[in-house]
Amino acid sequence: MRIDLHTHSTVSDGTEAPAEVVRAAKAAELDVVALTDHDTLDGLAEASTEAAAIGIGFVPGIEMSARQRVFPDPDDPRGISVHIVGLWPDPADTGLQAMLARVRDARLERAQRIVALLAEDFAITWDDVAARAGGADAVGRPHVADALVDLGIVATRDEAFASLLQGGTKYFVPHFAPEVLDAVAMLRAAGAVPVFAHPGADARGHIVPTSVIEGMAEAGLVGLEVDHRDHDERQRTRLTRIADRLSLVRTGSSDYHGTGKRNRLGENLTTPDAFEALQAARG
Ligand code: AMP
Ligand code: ZN
Ligand code: FE
Ligand code: FE
Repeated sequence: MRIDLHTHSTVSDGTEAPAEVVRAAKAAELDVVALTDHDTLDGLAEASTEAAAIGIGFVPGIEMSARQRVFPDPDDPRGISVHIVGLWPDPADTGLQAMLARVRDARLERAQRIVALLAEDFAITWDDVAARAGGADAVGRPHVADALVDLGIVATRDEAFASLLQGGTKYFVPHFAPEVLDAVAMLRAAGAVPVFAHPGADARGHIVPTSVIEGMAEAGLVGLEVDHRDHDERQRTRLTRIADRLSLVRTGSSDYHGTGKRNRLGENLTTPDAFEALQAARG
C-alpha cells in the first residue's frame, strides 16, 4: 500500500487542478492520496469525484495555517508559522469555514502588500500576480513567485523563495493565522484528524520548540509528519522520538505542488498501520 497524505492543487498554490492531482497520484501508483490545499476545502469535491471514477483511495484534507505567537496581541500576525494538516474535515463546519475565510482574506491582503513593496524596486503590478493566482481560492507567495518568473525578474519559484520572498527580507509580510492550539482545537471540532506538517523544516524558517508539540498533543494532535523532504536525518530522528514519547502517529508525505516544487508524489509515504491509526482517531 502506497499512501501519500499531503498534496496541493491550483485551488491553493499547486500547479495542477484537483482532478489532475488525483490522476497523477494514480499514475505514480499510489493507493491512497489526500488533497490538502492551504486554508481551503474548495478542491475536495472535484478530487473525490475523480478518485471514485478512476479507482484510487481518496482522503479529503486541508493544510491549515497557524501561528505560534511571539507578541501578546492576538491579531499581531508575527510569530512562527505552523502548518497543520487536517484529514477528513467536515466541510459543513461553520467554525472552521469562518476561520478559513478570514485567513484567505488575510492572505490576499498580504500578497497585495508584498507586491506593493516589490513594486518599489521592480516593475511588477498586482495584475501580474492576479493573472497567476486567478483560479486559486487561497493566494500565496508561490503566485507572486510565478509573476516574478513571468516578468523575468527571477528564473524559478525556487529562486524567488531563495531571494525576494524569503521570511526576514524587506519584501516579506506575514498574514494573520489562528494560534496553534486554537487551530488544533478547531480541526478537532470539525471532526478532522490533525497532523503537524513538516514540524522540523528549519531550513525554511523558525520551527517551534518541542514544548509546543507537547501542548498540541494535549490539545488533540494525532499525527506528526516525520518523513518529509524538508527534514534531514537529524530532524527525523528527533521527531520519531517525540512521536513515540507522545503516542503520536508518525506519517510521511510528499507535499506535492505539481511543477511548482521539486517534491514528487510518493517520495515519502505513510505506512498502512499509521493510516489505520489515523482513521481510528476520526471524530
Ligand atoms: P505562503 O503560504 O504564502 O506563506 O507561502 C509558502 C508556501 O510556498 C508553502 O506552501 C511552500 O510549500 C511554498 N514554497 C516554499 N518554498 C518554495 C520553493 N522554493 N518553491 C516553491 N514553493 C515554495
Ligand atoms: Zn504550498
Ligand atoms: Fe506546509
Ligand atoms: Fe503543504
